[in-house]
Amino acid sequence: MTITPPKRGDVRFVQLGHEISSLGNATASSSLSGVPDPLETHRTEKVLIVGAGAAGLSAGFLLERESVDFEILEASSRYGGRVRKVEGFADFPIDLGAEWIHKWIGAKPPFFKQLLAGKDRRFRTFPDKPQTHSVWKGGKLRERNWLRFVPLPTDLKFTDSTWFDALNTLATPGVLKKIHFNDPVASIDYRNSEVVVTTDSGLTYVGDAVLVTVPIAMLHRETIRFEPPLPAYKQAEIKKEKMPGGLKVFIEFSRRFYPDFVHIGEPLRLDLMNECSYYDATAGKHSDRHVLGLFTQGARAERYTAHQTDDELFKYVLAELDDIFDGQASQHYVKHIVQDWTREPFIQGSYSQRKASAKELAKPVAGRVFFAGEAMNPSGKTIAVHGACESACSAVSDMLTRLSKQ
Ligand SMILES: Cc1cc2nc3c(=O)[nH]c(=O)nc-3n(C[C@H](O)[C@H](O)[C@H](O)COP(=O)(O)OP(=O)(O)OC[C@H]3O[C@@H](n4cnc5c(N)ncnc54)[C@H](O)[C@@H]3O)c2cc1C
Repeated sequence: MTITPPKRGDVRFVQLGHEISSLGNATASSSLSGVPDPLETHRTEKVLIVGAGAAGLSAGFLLERESVDFEILEASSRYGGRVRKVEGFADFPIDLGAEWIHKWIGAKPPFFKQLLAGKDRRFRTFPDKPQTHSVWKGGKLRERNWLRFVPLPTDLKFTDSTWFDALNTLATPGVLKKIHFNDPVASIDYRNSEVVVTTDSGLTYVGDAVLVTVPIAMLHRETIRFEPPLPAYKQAEIKKEKMPGGLKVFIEFSRRFYPDFVHIGEPLRLDLMNECSYYDATAGKHSDRHVLGLFTQGARAERYTAHQTDDELFKYVLAELDDIFDGQASQHYVKHIVQDWTREPFIQGSYSQRKASAKELAKPVAGRVFFAGEAMNPSGKTIAVHGACESACSAVSDMLTRLSKQ
């Protein structure tokens, strides 16, 4: 067994072998197949992760498992990013961001294997199949219950937990204690063999590689300065990708006056990047309440996101529901909660739209600036939580392979 001597004090050793191949996705194992000797002990370095969403936490989890030193730099005061839950609003926990398990997206991070198969005992799930449908179009509400027979891919939902709970179980205490909150990364300097990351408050972190997992909208807006600037192809792909606005609203009513699902506009356009619907948020849950959800994203979300405050936005929503249901919304209103992701300062939108090449977006730069996140899954399985996690598996695997060769 060969041991490469460490360069600096902060260097750790890690064995790249069967352990790492347990990262287990196709990309991970294929890139690892180039490792010359699985028994050889390689030197690994310190990794800086920017962003503590699904991708950043997954990367931390994987690095922790491989005993690789890392730190996570998070701009906001929370971890989870677009995966967030609220407890106490209803008699079941509510996902304010990602809510459905889109099995059809096909990403398979190994730590979610059982969950995606609906077999993880810690997180009970059920197939979400609304039975009563209406369509609100041209100022008229029409019953369209036959929509339940349309063979669309069925999503799973959590019975008594949330996407946040699943992620939180994955994000071990070992990862959480390595997160630095409330300090956005302002610049990444990779001119030399070390990467120097500086935050808004002026703190500087030095690592041998950085994994950038911020939303594509934040890269698009150039909120992080790269030194030298990212290569032209990468900048072009970042500009090509879109991440429009999106939001969720949950409203409790004293009685139920709505069907399981109300499609706002054409229900069968199959335009997954442009959604707007009200849905019974208690379906499949153990709940005695009447809670209606609104999920909208893309062009159809614009009339909601045009409002500058949650109060104005909610007034618009209530007026729309009163239009649809003859004033019953105001009559039976109890309380509401608004989560407009467009106005979240470090998110600024919903999710990517598959306009750019995820493979190009994910390509590392100079062998030390790596990218992961829902828009950057090289397998193309973008948009969803498990896609973001899978992108972290690919990036970490690639990073460790490259670092081991340096
Ligand atoms: C309304 C809505 C509904 C959705 N529904 C679903 C669904 O049902 N199912 C599903 O699978 N997916 C859904 N998604 C998508 C899913 O939430 C995302 O794909 C996933 O959570 C993205 O994870 P991520 O780690 O790539 O990014 P994020 O979760 O956005 O994490 C990025 C992190 O980077 C931080 N950050 C930003 N800038 C900086 C900086 N300069 N320095 C340091 N940190 C920074 C942010 O604060 C954030 O914590 C939905 C998203 C939205 C908005």
